[in-house]
Amino acid sequence: MRVLVTGGAGFLGSHLCERLLALKHEVICLDNLFTGRKRNIYHLLNHPGFEFIRHDVVDPFKCEVDQIYNLACPASPVHYQYNAIKTVKTSVMGAINCLGLAKRINARILQASTSEVYGDPDVHPQTEAYRGNVNPIGPRACYDEGKRCAETLFFDYHRQNGVDIRVVRIFNTYGPRMMADDGRVVSNFIVQALHGAPITIYGDGSQTRSFCYVDDLVEGFVRFMDQKETIGPMNLGNPREFTMLELAELILKMTGSKSSIQFRPLPQDDPKQRKPDISVAKEVIRWEPAVELEEGLEKTIAYFAKEY
Ligand code: NAD
Ligand code: UDP
Repeated sequence: MRVLVTGGAGFLGSHLCERLLALKHEVICLDNLFTGRKRNIYHLLNHPGFEFIRHDVVDPFKCEVDQIYNLACPASPVHYQYNAIKTVKTSVMGAINCLGLAKRINARILQASTSEVYGDPDVHPQTEAYRGNVNPIGPRACYDEGKRCAETLFFDYHRQNGVDIRVVRIFNTYGPRMMADDGRVVSNFIVQALHGAPITIYGDGSQTRSFCYVDDLVEGFVRFMDQKETIGPMNLGNPREFTMLELAELILKMTGSKSSIQFRPLPQDDPKQRKPDISVAKEVIRWEPAVELEEGLEKTIAYFAKEY
């Protein structure tokens, strides 16, 4: 098959492109390189099945493919808040352009949605049926509401135009090729620990997240895309939950770092807890994460130790 991956030069996108090539698909990677890097796909550029196109999903585009994975969108709070209006445009107009293309060429299309559609959740763990608790006017809204509107568009294109959609809600995912300076907690803590700099914990560190290793997530993406039983939404993530203090202590132990812990103010609307209910993924695509946090962190620490 020929597959389009928007946001293919980013963290998740580059791993997905690799995986699709290994499955013998042809891959078109479309990216404006806002948070993605050519370095992430450098090793793929000479692959005969791989093509890179520098383009912004806010502007329409044409190509002939069988499947589309729509990942284009900055994902870390630092980057999606840098130009909040552009983030909304990327989510919403990007979705419209991808869905219009899917409709015209009759391609199956998967949307990389997010656990952020649940906001600061008052249902725990989060099931797909939970409708969320998002502040529509806060600093995270450009991302959260952009992604919620994209989900709306996906389901409307499905109902109105019969587009063959898949919507996946991704929970915090980590691994090699995260950007060192994009502000996400795993990369921040590892880089700080490796450099002996203070580990910055926002708030008192009691807020929780559940961390999925990138290889597990990509496996879930491909299985979900290739099945016909459900269009989603489907949660993909690791249900093992940690406080940020526990994560910091684990990274300090694994790196043997002497970094101190520094408490900083909690950003506005920072969700207090997050943990996916993955019953749907377990039942429909027989998927659950295989990589434990310690194992995934080991590979991620090795990456940052070499690269930064
Ligand atoms: P990333 O920032 O590494 O990747 C996003 C990619 O999209 C980058 O390569 C960037 O250059 C590209 N991009 C951004 N705006 C674009 C535009 N207007 N036109 C074309 N390309 C554009 O982030 P990631 O972690 O790889 O996330 C990929 C997708 O998965 C995003 O849609 C994100 O919302 C979603 N997601 C990620 C996580 C996670 O934990 N990593 C969690 C939930 C959802
Ligand atoms: N966080 C932290 N220190 C950091 C970066 C993040 O304590 O240096 C916290 C952040 O406040 C949040 C959690 O870690 O509670 C996860 O943050 P991230 O930006 O990785 O993801 P998200 O909040 O989008 O889940």
